[in-house]
Amino acid sequence: MRYGIISDIHGNLPALQQVLTALAPERIDQYLCLGDIVGYGASPNECCQTIRELEALCIRGNHDEAAVRPGKEDWFNPEARACLLWTRQQLTQENSQWVASLEPTAQVKGITLCHGSVPDPDYYTITPYDANYSFQALSTSLAFFGHTHYAEWFRYSGGDELPSRHPHPEGGTCEMEAGYQYLINPGAVGQPRDGNRQASFAIYDDQQQQVVVHRIEYDIRAAQQKMFAAGLPPSMAWRLSSGI
Ligand code: ZN
Repeated sequence: MRYGIISDIHGNLPALQQVLTALAPERIDQYLCLGDIVGYGASPNECCQTIRELEALCIRGNHDEAAVRPGKEDWFNPEARACLLWTRQQLTQENSQWVASLEPTAQVKGITLCHGSVPDPDYYTITPYDANYSFQALSTSLAFFGHTHYAEWFRYSGGDELPSRHPHPEGGTCEMEAGYQYLINPGAVGQPRDGNRQASFAIYDDQQQQVVVHRIEYDIRAAQQKMFAAGLPPSMAWRLSSGI
């Protein structure tokens, strides 16, 4: 099986379309989406529609949950909150119901999907200590996560040693070895924060036991113009230019 792994789209349709164009010739059998389809960007309905048409196995992120659950936006900073309130108004009833139906985690064929960490969708996995929190709760050898918007992975031997951290902001290949567990972040499609403004995604080939993280250019200007036109906070548009 070949899996296309996408996360943290955040309503950025130009980035999502470019990523799916890049994935189209890759003989993908199943798309996996790690949440935060909406929030920040100006195309929440189009992004929901696109993911639904892919028939992706999709879990919800913290922004997805807050977009459809009044009160949860209070957990966010003022700019993120403004984007969430705008998104809630924009979502069609059908898309809103679809977002509300998403589960916080999923498993398929020995792969765990989670948003922030295995035990807690809101938890940011940044350090090896954070990764250890997930590995202690992980029942499969492989998990994909998002939420930090950093393309990287962690490897754990199962012993007393802390997991090792492997940041790959320029993309890279994770050759999975037997006897280890892996926690892999494909990076963000629609709002990278690892210093590389290019859209990020991954391909997992379970026969080759290999995950490849890709970075590609997309039309950032188009995404920004949609956000300006929608009246979304300009700082959320400008950060796309620098990937922070
Ligand atoms: Zn996110």
